[in-house]
Amino acid sequence: MQVIIAGAGLSGVASAWFLRQAGHEVLVIDRGEQAATETSYANGGQISASHPEPWSSPAAPRILLRWLGSADAPMRFQPQADPALWRWGLRFLRECAPARFAANAHAIAALAAFSRSTIAALRAQLHLDYEARQAGILHLFARPAEIAALPEKQRLLAAHGIDSECCTPARCVQIEPALSTLAPHLAGGLYAPQDESGNARLFARALAAHCQQAGVRFHFQRTIAAVDGRGVTLAGKDGAPNERLSADAVVLCAGSFGAALVRPLGLRLPVYPVKGFSITAPVREASLAPTVSLTDESRRIVCSRLGNTVRVAGMADIGGFDRTPHPARIALLRRWLEQTFPGATYSAEAEAWCGLRPVTPSNRPVIGASRVPGLWFNTGHGALGFTLSCGAARLLTALMQGETPPVDPRPFLPASHHV
Ligand SMILES: Cc1cc2nc3c(=O)[nH]c(=O)nc-3n(C[C@H](O)[C@H](O)[C@H](O)COP(=O)(O)OP(=O)(O)OC[C@H]3O[C@@H](n4cnc5c(N)ncnc54)[C@H](O)[C@@H]3O)c2cc1C
Repeated sequence: MQVIIAGAGLSGVASAWFLRQAGHEVLVIDRGEQAATETSYANGGQISASHPEPWSSPAAPRILLRWLGSADAPMRFQPQADPALWRWGLRFLRECAPARFAANAHAIAALAAFSRSTIAALRAQLHLDYEARQAGILHLFARPAEIAALPEKQRLLAAHGIDSECCTPARCVQIEPALSTLAPHLAGGLYAPQDESGNARLFARALAAHCQQAGVRFHFQRTIAAVDGRGVTLAGKDGAPNERLSADAVVLCAGSFGAALVRPLGLRLPVYPVKGFSITAPVREASLAPTVSLTDESRRIVCSRLGNTVRVAGMADIGGFDRTPHPARIALLRRWLEQTFPGATYSAEAEAWCGLRPVTPSNRPVIGASRVPGLWFNTGHGALGFTLSCGAARLLTALMQGETPPVDPRPFLPASHHV
């Protein structure tokens, strides 16, 4: 089968790899000059099966209200005159019901656990070089109430074979000695030893290179003006007419921009951008810099050691497609880095970035056949696009092949998202 993949971020490249392995002729199209130039460029670097809980949680409405108008808010809602935002927001609130939250968390955990092992197998098979670390992820909590809730979280993780250890502040420092400054402010932690971290951009580009060697074609610096189930229309370059490329199937992996591409087909894809930020600072003193990937749960900030740099990422700003790295949000990340690991990095030299996470109201990605024959989705991976990349791509491939899916596909099928 000839397959066109729209988008060369983590989801598009991983889809290309597994579809090519299944014997298909694959063409990937992206407006960037190479793979991973948008949301997959500088994310938090975590492969975090231990964080399957969606943002649409029973606590989310309270958190949004409590932080309303605060520049320091980990999550902000910025109202826009955009009907898609309001439709998405209402569905987000509906997914906050406890039963919906639990079902979504289980579905994401199942896919994340499968994906994590798929990434590990691929790394070993292809010797992928992406500053990978297999040192686990340590989640940090500041409030005793958060520690009291951990047994329930551990039961969720255990149900999907995701190991975790509840930690005292002293144990947190034993796992990551660079945390000694933060330790007095910690109530405890949760360590997921099988979780991993790495540079998502390098991962996507290394895998794209293997895709090319395996015969996948890439058309870069081409903008897709329209998609349907039989091909794509590329916008003509420099005044040239539009160009039509035909295929037997099209897979939409266009991040936050996919919803607009399928709207003319009568499909309402519930994927909306949620903006996040990162900084990447060179290491100044290695003994003070973390090597274990961390999640500060109270402030919703993640931190990963990537080569000789420390990446700090976080924040969730809901309110449109603006892609400027807001200085106040960047300053917040820089402050966190300086306070948590004093003297560890050249924080003033940190590179600032922001990206638009493609997020569904339930946080479940959309994977499977659309109502338009030939048009498939593998998108909407939200805050877990690195974590879910390879599992989602394998699930998509199995569905396209008509094979037994490796995980229960039902929570991810477009119909379950009312698309
Ligand atoms: C601050 C931040 C931190 C994060 N941290 C983590 C983390 O630690 N772990 C984790 O698992 N996930 C994390 N994520 C989420 C993860 O980065 C995303 O889910 C993932 O990158 C999405 O990949 P994608 O391929 O769907 O989208 P993208 O990477 O955005 O790829 C979509 C591609 O489609 C192309 N495209 C779109 N429209 C068109 C068009 N019309 N024509 C041609 N090309 C088009 C774009 O150029 C782009 O390359 C984080 C995200 C952010 C913002």
